[in-house]
Amino acid sequence: MSPVSLHAHLAALPPRPLADDVDLARVGAYRGYREVIAGLAALAAGPGASVRSIGSSVRGVPLFALELGAADAPVATAIIAGLHPIEWIGVETALALLARLCARPPEGRRIVAIPLVNVDGYQAVEADLRAGRRRFRRGNARGVDLNRNYPTHFRAAAPHGLRAALGGWNHGGPHPLSEPECAAVVAALDTVSTRTRIDHALSLHSIGRMILTPWGGRLRRPEAAPRLAAAAESVRARLPGYRAVQSSWWVPGLRGHGMELDHLHAAYDATALLVECTGGGATLREPRSLVHPFRWFNPPDPARHAEQLAGALEPFVRGQ
Ligand SMILES: [Zn+2]
Repeated sequence: MSPVSLHAHLAALPPRPLADDVDLARVGAYRGYREVIAGLAALAAGPGASVRSIGSSVRGVPLFALELGAADAPVATAIIAGLHPIEWIGVETALALLARLCARPPEGRRIVAIPLVNVDGYQAVEADLRAGRRRFRRGNARGVDLNRNYPTHFRAAAPHGLRAALGGWNHGGPHPLSEPECAAVVAALDTVSTRTRIDHALSLHSIGRMILTPWGGRLRRPEAAPRLAAAAESVRARLPGYRAVQSSWWVPGLRGHGMELDHLHAAYDATALLVECTGGGATLREPRSLVHPFRWFNPPDPARHAEQLAGALEPFVRGQ
């Protein structure tokens, strides 16, 4: 497929804000897909920033990467978000982080950001919200968990039983990079890495107030464990209430095979972190929120959390 410009894509989307159909006082002031793309377009209009399409989803929706900073910089940071469709606070945090980076582009460092990877899933969640459906979604349009489809420590697992009921939880797909969204991310980062060393990488998810380090697919510590732990600890020190741990040790017995976190570290030797943003938005004070999957993963005040997280993560993505 030929590359699609962000502006052409934006112009073709129906301009109906999420607030037209959803009581944002109840779920939080989040943005629908078109509003996210408009936000990306606004960021890309800044000096030194550019956006290009890097591929497309199962349903043919273009995926966009925003790049910032000198093209001949010796090092780069990769930022990705929105692998899991219901974790909207991660996307908001990525956009808040990019706003800071665009306002003051880093010197001597390239930023490559793909702030919304699971575009089909995001739009499905948006349709759920607009229709008033309370539905949990985890996979892409084919039900594959995009954070289990990367080559490093990949393990094929067919969706069945409980896994299918959980909307694709841990279903890694038939083979590594079987999903066009993950293949596009890896191809884009591989291209960057041929000329620039990706030495820092960040992936944004929710929930749990955790800063996770590789490996997710192995219990053993990676060789670079001290470097990874030091980076996680410096971020954690700026985020009260957060903890830092190796991903596979977070929940005993629950390893993640084929995670982006492991691949970003293994493929590029990047100091890679996965942040599980916030504690979500389900609260006993509001019983309705306990049966609303969107609320489990997303706090009702996204701007405040996204700003706090962006401020805490900014030094890391700047390589400081
Ligand atoms: Zn996630």
